[in-house]
Amino acid sequence: MTKKYIIGNLKMYGSISFYDTFFKKIREFSMHKSLDNIEIALCIPYPYLYLAQQILGNSGIYWGSQNVAKDNEGPFTGEVSAKMLKEFDSQFAIIGHSERNTAYCESDVNIAEKFLRIKEHNMRPIFCVGETLIEREAGMEKKVVQSQLETLVNHGKHIFNNSIIAYEPIWAIGSDMSASPEQAKSMCAFIKEFVEGEADKVNQLGKENKPIKVIYGGSVNEKNTLQLLSLDKVDGALIGRCSLSPDKFLQICEIAHQL
Ligand code: PEP
Repeated sequence: MTKKYIIGNLKMYGSISFYDTFFKKIREFSMHKSLDNIEIALCIPYPYLYLAQQILGNSGIYWGSQNVAKDNEGPFTGEVSAKMLKEFDSQFAIIGHSERNTAYCESDVNIAEKFLRIKEHNMRPIFCVGETLIEREAGMEKKVVQSQLETLVNHGKHIFNNSIIAYEPIWAIGSDMSASPEQAKSMCAFIKEFVEGEADKVNQLGKENKPIKVIYGGSVNEKNTLQLLSLDKVDGALIGRCSLSPDKFLQICEIAHQL
């Protein structure tokens, strides 16, 4: 059975009491549903990872971060390493989110290094790619996304094995203007074909070949989830604003569960 991935990107929101309530609600959800056809994860701010580990441990719900250091250790003030994230049983880490790329000028090479650190610590990277509105209007969306992927393709064997790529058109994030089902389907299919084609050439998926998952992010809500997740090329959704409401987020999980 192919699972749909529902991943919350909580950004820099919340508090101890918010996460305590959220984790307990989602744990409760996991106790009453079979999670056979969905995988649910919350990518949260670092200080709440311990709480996630305590409340969500053994629930079948996963958690992780929204960034990671490109180095394993050293004099890097303010950074958090993949090894540290793993100590809290994190299973996922978002990298390359456009909000970070804009605010902190992340280079593609930096992002590729982070991708490797996450994999070295047996976590799953959620690598965000996507074009700006100007690039889409110029018909360059595939070219832009391909170049974001190419940096990784050349970064070592088996790199994409068991990883997640999030197609997040920058114009759709936080905008109330989700990509249309046709746009989401076409780009997710393009990413999958490109990565699998390139990876094949250099045997990057490895022998065990756990294929990549391509999910869509950008103004996903409880109203458009069904349409977007029904697309066979879309393996799930990365949810920003709607993950700030546990009830809405769980509504989205329920829709995915019933697909
Ligand atoms: C995001 O920032 O990853 C995101 C998908 O945000 P939103 O759902 O709010 O558009």
